[in-house]
Amino acid sequence: MENTHQTTCCYCGVGCGIVVKTEASGQLSVQGDPQHPSNRGLLCSKGMNLHYTVMDQSDRLLYPQMRYGRSAPLERVSWDAALERTAAVFKTFIQKYGPDSVAFYVSGQCLTEEYYLVNKLIKGFIGSNNIDTNSRLCMSSAVVGYKLSLGEDSVPVCYNDMEEADVFYVQGANPAWCHPILWRRIEAHKAANPQVKIICVDPRVTDTARSADLHLPLRPGTDIVLNHAIGRLLIEQEKTDTHFILDHTDGFEAYRKSVFQRSIAEAAELCGVPEASIRQAAEWIGFSKGFLSLWTMGLNQSVVGVNKNLSLINLHLITGRIGTPGNGPFSLTGQPNAMGGREVGGLANALPAHREVTNARHRQEVEEFWQSPVKIAEKPGLTATELIEALADDRLKAIWIINTNPMVSMPDLNAAEKALTNARFVVVQDISSRADTLAFADVVLPAAGWLEKEGTMTNAERRITYLPQIQIAPGEALPDVEIIWRFARKMGFERAFPYEKAEEVYREYTQLTAGTNVDVTGVTYDLLRQKRSIQWPYPANADDSTQRLFTNHRFYTANQRAQIHTVPDGNASEPTDEAFPLVLTTGRIRDQWHTMTKTGRVAKLNQHLSQPFLQMHPADAEARQIRDGQLVEIRGRRGTVRVKVQLTTDVRPGLCFLPMHWGKIGTGSLGRANNLTSTLIDPKSKEPDFKFSAVQVQAY
Ligand code: SF4
Repeated sequence: MENTHQTTCCYCGVGCGIVVKTEASGQLSVQGDPQHPSNRGLLCSKGMNLHYTVMDQSDRLLYPQMRYGRSAPLERVSWDAALERTAAVFKTFIQKYGPDSVAFYVSGQCLTEEYYLVNKLIKGFIGSNNIDTNSRLCMSSAVVGYKLSLGEDSVPVCYNDMEEADVFYVQGANPAWCHPILWRRIEAHKAANPQVKIICVDPRVTDTARSADLHLPLRPGTDIVLNHAIGRLLIEQEKTDTHFILDHTDGFEAYRKSVFQRSIAEAAELCGVPEASIRQAAEWIGFSKGFLSLWTMGLNQSVVGVNKNLSLINLHLITGRIGTPGNGPFSLTGQPNAMGGREVGGLANALPAHREVTNARHRQEVEEFWQSPVKIAEKPGLTATELIEALADDRLKAIWIINTNPMVSMPDLNAAEKALTNARFVVVQDISSRADTLAFADVVLPAAGWLEKEGTMTNAERRITYLPQIQIAPGEALPDVEIIWRFARKMGFERAFPYEKAEEVYREYTQLTAGTNVDVTGVTYDLLRQKRSIQWPYPANADDSTQRLFTNHRFYTANQRAQIHTVPDGNASEPTDEAFPLVLTTGRIRDQWHTMTKTGRVAKLNQHLSQPFLQMHPADAEARQIRDGQLVEIRGRRGTVRVKVQLTTDVRPGLCFLPMHWGKIGTGSLGRANNLTSTLIDPKSKEPDFKFSAVQVQAY
């Protein structure tokens, strides 16, 4: 007998609806859900092959395991034994060294309920803010950019704006590969409306750049110079919205003075792009009716990531292109539930419903709601890279890593490896035995995967969808939310963690949102099952989703005016020099997801690009007597990588590109991109500078 279920893709932030068919034999098939507004029946290569990752259970973690020394083998134990020992170790450290001696490191793959519960446990009951997420590595600069300019971490636009816009400004993003279903939508819109213009800003010639009307292959690190030049041209050509600026913003005069400090010719020289291209981009934006900007890691993963975000959002604020159809800044979320995690406060500085740990009123509201036995700490906890540093110098004794694989995804992996080796106690909660981080675990907890647990996620356009449990997890694997509530009870917090279903956790979270800008008190599992998905805010009396924010041009700042921030246009990445003269940038390829624990197992996906590679400009290769296809060694200040080289003019001279996905402990430096990346972080967002590392390349 065949059963059909509706759920959501667990890979990227597009959040495509999927119809899963299950057969009594255990066979699964997937297809795009034509009823889901995010994808209208389409799926990309990763989504189309999701059933293989579920049906192949050869790598699944099936039961809890523990070891009593790093050189000892992991042994199978019961759930009670694993959680009781973990609770005993956590309690000992907390008693001896204080609550900040323990931490959780979670993931944009976690469901909202899981994020919420870990956050409640550590902030409201253990008394530390040491919880951060791998979303810190991808979205935190956009979060701070939104907060500073619009008052809160709130994406103002929706996917329907794609059909309303006539100019797309894509900066530091390759949606053709990384958000393919959204890109198909833009391509279809352009095919039907040939006057639509796509501007792509990227130092590489990506598939997005290839389909753009205008490509600005700027020098890495010069995005702010470019955005300021466009801002200056919009002002000079009187394409700004004076009424909007006067009535709804602060900071325009200082911004105007700042962007007039550089001529367009000077900006073109700094960016390494023709002056005519900058003028063309400004003209199209100035004359557009719908101006939508899209960006991802090229802006966010930068030591000046927040400034880059602000310089782009400013283009919308000076033109008043926000809050109306087809207009607005749109940060494309990398992971499926990075936004849901932010809503429930799953960052070291946040509390549920976009509250802040540094705000006394917010702390009090949450403490009272949770009936916390401890005061919520007012100091933000350690962020992703700070957690690693604190493990290295023994400030942090224990870390619990949930559904993420930092031993491939963190910057400066050689240092991260030493830090995890140095950690006194490591818990790894995951679905796969392929996770590299398991090598460092004292306790391994098997988690239920996609289709095996229920909960909610929020995609890039604030759309909440419900994911039903469709099948039983293998072995003794448990839903993550249940692992957390079982552990909380072992810690002695039975009364505050009495849950039996994920739905109870979600209901509790929604009550905490009442009266906030992210109010979802009207959202229930029943409603989500009925409507399929809902865009927040959706208060108790709502009868429809909120497509766009700020339609009344009242922003979430204290004075309800958007803030135009004047930012310096310089970069602060590590400098290149004679020893390390090339810039290395990292990124995704089309058919792989993050650290490949899932997609790396699917033969069809490996057919696209099966091996790591370094893209290098032929002129740089010739100067080093490197031939196409040769094995090369990339050396940086923190480590080395060996990989085959691909000579191409798709990268600028002086720039190299290495995919981020590969990396195995024990295989030396083969392909592990993050051996080379820098631990420099943006001072405001604490997001690492993955896109700019100084390296040298030589034949191996
Ligand atoms: Fe999944 Fe993203 Fe592909 Fe949609 S675009 S199918 S959400 S990976």
